[in-house]
Amino acid sequence: MATVNDNYLKLKAGYLFPEIARRVNAFAEANPDAKIIRLGIGDVTEPLPEACRTAMIDAVAEMGDRSTFKGYGPEQGYSWLREKIAARDFQALGCEVDASEIFISDGSKCDTGNILDIFGNDNTIAVTDPVYPVYVDTNVMAGHTGVANDKGEFEGLVYLPITAENNFTASLPTEKVDLIYLCFPNNPTGAVASKEHLKAWVDYALANNSIIFFDAAYEAFITDADIPHSIYEIEGARQCAIEFRSFSKTAGFTGTRCAFTVVPKNLTAKAADGSDVELWKLWNRRQSTKFNGVSYIVQRAAEAVYSPEGDAQVKALVNFYMENAKIIREKLTDAGLSVYGGVNAPYVWVKTPSGLSSWDFFDKLLHTVNVVGTPGSGFGAAGEGYFRISAFNSRENVEEAMRRIVDKFKV
Ligand SMILES: *Cc1c(COP(=O)(O)O)cnc(C)c1O
Repeated sequence: MATVNDNYLKLKAGYLFPEIARRVNAFAEANPDAKIIRLGIGDVTEPLPEACRTAMIDAVAEMGDRSTFKGYGPEQGYSWLREKIAARDFQALGCEVDASEIFISDGSKCDTGNILDIFGNDNTIAVTDPVYPVYVDTNVMAGHTGVANDKGEFEGLVYLPITAENNFTASLPTEKVDLIYLCFPNNPTGAVASKEHLKAWVDYALANNSIIFFDAAYEAFITDADIPHSIYEIEGARQCAIEFRSFSKTAGFTGTRCAFTVVPKNLTAKAADGSDVELWKLWNRRQSTKFNGVSYIVQRAAEAVYSPEGDAQVKALVNFYMENAKIIREKLTDAGLSVYGGVNAPYVWVKTPSGLSSWDFFDKLLHTVNVVGTPGSGFGAAGEGYFRISAFNSRENVEEAMRRIVDKFKV
């Protein structure tokens, strides 16, 4: 008799985005003339940079010629890409990261989930609340939690609230935790971590033999010069942190797929017999067995991000979204709302007015101004009373949505 992984049955079957779609569709059906603007998505909208497209076209031509055709590539990624990443994204910032410690993949979503393969099942796991749902759901699937309560909190996870009261930077856990997920710049709150804040986490992890999973998918959106882009800018991080990066939001690769994970060579965790095991070796073994590398064509596209043209085009793309974020921040402030984030991240986190719940504010915006955002409570219990507005959209849509909100809400 075949059985299933019962842990999947504990999941809150993708409640957030289907519920948004359900409410938007019902409204659109009842109001066929309404021009709905969707600022709820966490997906890029602007085209792939030209340098990346040109690199892909050239790579396709190579694939069409017997003498330059490529079959399987290295599971870890091509060294020409890993070398550029190590030099430009890390060594240029003074971080000691070697090309051999970079593993190219088809996405950070996959990597942040797959990383659990190399860790034991008895680790105590901490996540922030609100949080990128992938961290929680992959732990549920792996059987690391009990069931969820009414608020959607899973038994066995340590939730660290991030709210306006603590400036959206989680306080260190009062108990001992083994694995910690941190995402800065943060999705969904748009908050960033200062060097001092990250240093406190690194010191905690070193003192407790914990491992930090640092998701830096949005590092390209950092505009303040003193905010760290990598956790390896913090002394001691090589002894306690794995970093995840992605070309998805930086270079518009959400549909092209390329990311990478950094596992320092000297980073270890304990085996059952008490010995120290190098995580690099386990991740290399995991990737070599379960992954066969990213397409040559896509790795060439990612490499083009580091060319002078690619670099300029990516910066222009990031600036475009950040200008959207600025417009959103300013207009929502004009409308009398309290806004957070949106300065070093493409997300603006809004406090719902007059104590409305996240979903009530969602309905209000949808019904009165036909604008769709994401209810903060969908990212965790502590997100209740907040709302996420994404800067990933056309300028026209952002300006029109903000005009409607200011007209309606300005006091
Ligand atoms: C978008 C996003 C990623 C990137 O995921 P990919 O699989 O690389 O597209 C990673 N982490 C967070 C928090 C994100 O929002």
